[in-house]
Amino acid sequence: MRVYSTSGTTGVPCYIAVTPRDLDIWTEISARSYVAAGIRRGRRVVSTYSLGPFVAGAAGDSLTKIGVTHIPVGTGNTERLVGAVRRLGADVLMGTPSYAVHLIDWCRARGIATETLGIKQFAVAGEPGGGDPVIRARIESAFRCQVNEVMGIGDISISLWGECEEQGGMHFGGRDFVHVELIDPASGAALPLEDGATGEAVYTALEREAMPLLRFRSRDHVVVNARPCSCGRTAPRVRCIGRTDDMLIVRGVNVFPSAIRTVVNRFAPAVGEVMQVRPSRRGVQQEPPLRVLVELAPGGAAEPGLAERIETAIRSALVVRTRIELVPHGTLPRSEYKSALVSYADVS
Ligand SMILES: [Zn+2]
Repeated sequence: MRVYSTSGTTGVPCYIAVTPRDLDIWTEISARSYVAAGIRRGRRVVSTYSLGPFVAGAAGDSLTKIGVTHIPVGTGNTERLVGAVRRLGADVLMGTPSYAVHLIDWCRARGIATETLGIKQFAVAGEPGGGDPVIRARIESAFRCQVNEVMGIGDISISLWGECEEQGGMHFGGRDFVHVELIDPASGAALPLEDGATGEAVYTALEREAMPLLRFRSRDHVVVNARPCSCGRTAPRVRCIGRTDDMLIVRGVNVFPSAIRTVVNRFAPAVGEVMQVRPSRRGVQQEPPLRVLVELAPGGAAEPGLAERIETAIRSALVVRTRIELVPHGTLPRSEYKSALVSYADVS
């Protein structure tokens, strides 16, 4: 009944077809994940999804099923978004963590006090930054809201995981419809899905009619929290720690750029939010030190010894040697949607 497409990595779109029943199931799974994240009937929800050809456009069907008042404003229209919050009393925002940070800067630049906007909930998705404690704390204190993560994968379901008020990771919302496994991304071997386990999430769509998918690799690298949760949900929780595609192996040690960012962010407010890993060659295998560009805070200058302190912190947390180069605020490319954590700009 509907054919979505993704941007694809080779320039040719990937098509995703659904029957009416497939769409019903997507909507059910996604509604579970959104409700876990605090998106309930009675809330006024501003979404920033682009309808376009993308699966995310179907998120609106799930919001309808939940019974929220949905105010779609599309991508890249911050003026309209803030207007919906101020004039319509919207109290829930949905977007990427990068966009949330952009929104804070946008409001500050216009003298709008973010903490008075009345946002209760910010549901973040689309990149691992929402699980980063520093980025999360920045969004929560700016808006005086709770940040909850949701995560889906277009080929399987619009949204598949949703984080409850305990904020200990996202509960799996696909029970009865989707089977989830964990694998070692290098060998493909199955790993037990137990507390503390880490690996790539792999999904099988058990009920899919139009496009059955068996053991579909998500490229999302997750860590499992299988401890009981105070919200009463019994489904396991995960935190996404990075994309398998972004993973680098530096002299035998697996390193996710998002994990480097988590350590770098501890040095805020001396540093800004934007950093980029610049490998010296293509491919997963890298030699130390790994070059990392880190932006200083707006108007900030490098304190003596700051780069060395960041290098030491990364080495002790992640067992990898880096070379930190501090650059002025605004030097690195940024996007309202997702910020690239790795760039091969240095590789000829
Ligand atoms: Zn819970």
